[in-house]
Amino acid sequence: MRREQAAGTSPLSQPRCEIEKTPLVEGECQRPGEVRYKGILLVCRPHAALLELEDRAQAVLGSVFQMDEWLQENGSTGADEEYLGRIRHEREEAIAALQLIRVQIRSARKEVLQ
Ligand SMILES: [Zn+2]
Repeated sequence: MRREQAAGTSPLSQPRCEIEKTPLVEGECQRPGEVRYKGILLVCRPHAALLELEDRAQAVLGSVFQMDEWLQENGSTGADEEYLGRIRHEREEAIAALQLIRVQIRSARKEVLQ
């Protein structure tokens, strides 16, 4: 008698998505891990896309906060008007980018739940 193993279904050959190890997302994921996130966690493609978007949103938000701080410190002290205008414009563009990313995050969340 010979025991045959079905190829590709062994849990060892197909590691599972490790999304539960991140603080961002609650719960476990049953999909196979396919993508290395930040070189550490092995996650499935939908979760990798979501994590990447969340990271980008964080980065853009951080730059908006930095610009806000700068504007608060320099906006009323007679700083160079042209430079001020450029910072304000950059801030508006960052906000617009952030709104776009939020839309993408919403659809990425839906994909993750499928
Ligand atoms: Zn996953």
